[in-house]
Amino acid sequence: MAARLRTLTDLNFSEYNRPVVFLRLDLNVPLKNGVVTDETRITAALPAIKWLLDKGCRLVMCSHLGRPKGDGYEKEFSLAPVGEKLAAHLGKEVLLCGDYLTDGFERIVQQLDSKQLILLENLRFHKQEQKGDKEFAKILAKGMDFYVNDAFGTCHRADASMVAVAEEFPLERRAAGFLVQKEIDFLEGAFRNPQAPVTAIFGGAKVSDKIAILQKFTAIANNMIIGGAMAYTFLRYMGHTVGKSRVEEDKMSLVGEILKAAEARKVKIILPIDHLCASEFAEGTPAIQCSTADIPDHLMGLDIGPKTVALFADVIRNSKVVVWNGPMGVFEWDAFASGSRGVAEALTQCPGATIVGGGDSAAAITAFGLAEKVSHVSTGGGASMELLEGKELPGIKVLRAAL
Ligand code: AMP
Repeated sequence: MAARLRTLTDLNFSEYNRPVVFLRLDLNVPLKNGVVTDETRITAALPAIKWLLDKGCRLVMCSHLGRPKGDGYEKEFSLAPVGEKLAAHLGKEVLLCGDYLTDGFERIVQQLDSKQLILLENLRFHKQEQKGDKEFAKILAKGMDFYVNDAFGTCHRADASMVAVAEEFPLERRAAGFLVQKEIDFLEGAFRNPQAPVTAIFGGAKVSDKIAILQKFTAIANNMIIGGAMAYTFLRYMGHTVGKSRVEEDKMSLVGEILKAAEARKVKIILPIDHLCASEFAEGTPAIQCSTADIPDHLMGLDIGPKTVALFADVIRNSKVVVWNGPMGVFEWDAFASGSRGVAEALTQCPGATIVGGGDSAAAITAFGLAEKVSHVSTGGGASMELLEGKELPGIKVLRAAL
């Protein structure tokens, strides 16, 4: 079992006067023409910020945003619009600092008053960030008293601000923020001695992207529901016709291995029994109902059908723990969203713990307006996948205390 995660309440500020906290956040928000189009990550960062401010801390907040080239400032990837939003939410002045690698920066931090916070300009303007550069980390950590990481969506990356900066602080001065703590509580905690039945729902584009997580869950789940495009590789393996649906011929043997592992543990693999199909993969194409598990040659499956929704929903509603990773169909197109919507609704009707992994299934449940009605929707796509696969995330590993 992994050692305990150190959290904000583990930090002891008593020997410090207005301690300076290096606060790594995930403020990687979508922007359109310099305007923030989704504030979810900003509002998710507020509890940790407010708690630290209440404790009298001086905050040096930082994040990456998008994928700049890494050789200096690019207006398109500036955190300036994020700083403005933070200032509005907090009712404080947010000083956006671009020259934080210079000596003068420490003076700015020292002079910070209680109505001000610092936000470092996009860390990825410097190549060293993604290289995990130790010298870069040393400069970033200079003059700081504590390290707090609340950037769950980046915890699977060993970027400088996620690992090397943390290592500049003794363990007792490092902690996870509330968001990281909540993600770990749900994504790890739900599967620590869970009550049966545990149901894992997988969907999305490819089996190949999800092999590790599928294999992992053959050892955890009682039911594995497979939808999305990956279901066709399973159906084909089992001898069904799948028409023009997306099939990964080269992954057939892996499907065989997963089915064998599931059989050995008596895990039920539940596949679609009907489909919504189309004759071509094009937006606006109408849905053609296919009422059996077999799909005729001229059609491709783009969503699960109504009988499958009822079958999946029944299993989901009767589970004690449910985790959902990957949409059931091409949910971005209205004609093929009903399968993912049906699964999302069933999750909201399940009295057990209901967890939605990040990425597309999180986008789907949010688009259906149901995100508030499940136990937890992860904010990190890649990070939640890796955690569910059972990997130790580098950004989390440095925040573990000995038991
Ligand atoms: P992933 O990132 O692997 O979770 O895949 C999500 C993507 O899979 C979404 O963009 C869906 O549109 C797509 N998808 C889901 N079902 C199908 C399907 N039956 N055929 C093609 N693409 C699909």
